[in-house]
Amino acid sequence: MKKLFCNIFGHHYSISKKVTSHIKEYKCIHCQKQVTTDVSGNLSSLTPELQDINRTLERIYQRRHTATQQVA
Ligand SMILES: [Zn+2]
Repeated sequence: MKKLFCNIFGHHYSISKKVTSHIKEYKCIHCQKQVTTDVSGNLSSLTPELQDINRTLERIYQRRHTATQQVA
């Protein structure tokens, strides 16, 4: 029933994780489908491969971010 809702009205994504300032992971609040922003800025299904890439990007981003900018 929830998936039918998404098929008719589209998914309702909310941000589940901020990977970098450009890449975020989203989860549908109705059916829990997870997607992520890919390198070209489109939304793709969050596959284990993309999840892996995101973890790597996140580590690089956070290291660079904390090195250049201290947030009090
Ligand atoms: Zn959905």
